[in-house]
Amino acid sequence: MVFLDKVDIERRLKLLRQEISERPINEELRGWNYDKPPIQPLFNSIKFGVSELAGRYCETLRDIYLKRVLNMKFPPNLKVVKGVALHKIIKETIYEAKKFIYDNSRATGIKLINFLSKRSLEAAQDAVTDAEFMLAGNLQKNEKDLLIEECVNTRSFLLTQTAAKLDYALSKYPHADSDSIVSIAIPPVAERKVDGSLVGLSSELSVDIYTPYNAVIDVKTGDVRSFHPLTAAGYALALESEENIPVDFGFILYLRFERKEIPSFKAKHFIIGDELRREFIEIRDEAFEIVDSGRDPGMPNKCPDFCPYYSICQK
Ligand code: SF4
Repeated sequence: MVFLDKVDIERRLKLLRQEISERPINEELRGWNYDKPPIQPLFNSIKFGVSELAGRYCETLRDIYLKRVLNMKFPPNLKVVKGVALHKIIKETIYEAKKFIYDNSRATGIKLINFLSKRSLEAAQDAVTDAEFMLAGNLQKNEKDLLIEECVNTRSFLLTQTAAKLDYALSKYPHADSDSIVSIAIPPVAERKVDGSLVGLSSELSVDIYTPYNAVIDVKTGDVRSFHPLTAAGYALALESEENIPVDFGFILYLRFERKEIPSFKAKHFIIGDELRREFIEIRDEAFEIVDSGRDPGMPNKCPDFCPYYSICQK
């Protein structure tokens, strides 16, 4: 896999499989039980995004009230623009690498790097400009330059990783065709679309990376937050409802720039178990109630200053 070492991911999954065999997931909490409580949504007319429910900055869910009832958007900030731009560069680089291999039967690692790195700066500038446009926010020049540099570095990292995996696959399977080589060298599907409407979620969710290991990978570009695993629970329920296959494992990949030129990916792995599923469903149901009733749930005792709505609620 491009982001994680295959041996490392398999070692982690082995431990998780052992754990899940001792504490299997309760069947009633699987997404395919979307027609029965507690998975069955309270309303069919309201659909939530996964990050909208899982991004639990606000304990009382006042963010849901502000967004859904009062129609207020939070002001864009550097962290949000950064997240969108980095996700975009990851998705596009993976797509372009696959396309290059399909289009070039004689593709090799070095050819892939030479060809795709020519437009790295342009791809990075586009990713940042698109993120600014999407969020209707403009970065300061120095912030923008730094973010473009981080996007270029992320792309270079992905290209070199992919090139190495490509050469390895070509060397091991000299008679394989492009389709096989792509699936060996770059297995994950980036930004896999999922219809979560049966479980009360949006009909066009995007899972960051969907792997052949019954696992979803969510890429985070900001600080570590305790609520991040909830995102994997939301995607697992949606995938289970659509595909009828169990999604048991979650990975959160934290993308950081500790060494500036080379991004580092730190992974947190976990079982998408009963507790996490129940917590996600409870949040969904509470959000349904707030939107349906139009009730302001009030503010928690303490608002974290990293909450995107902080400047609005603290006026
Ligand atoms: S600022 Fe406070 S009340 Fe407003 S959404 Fe954030 S945590 Fe909730």
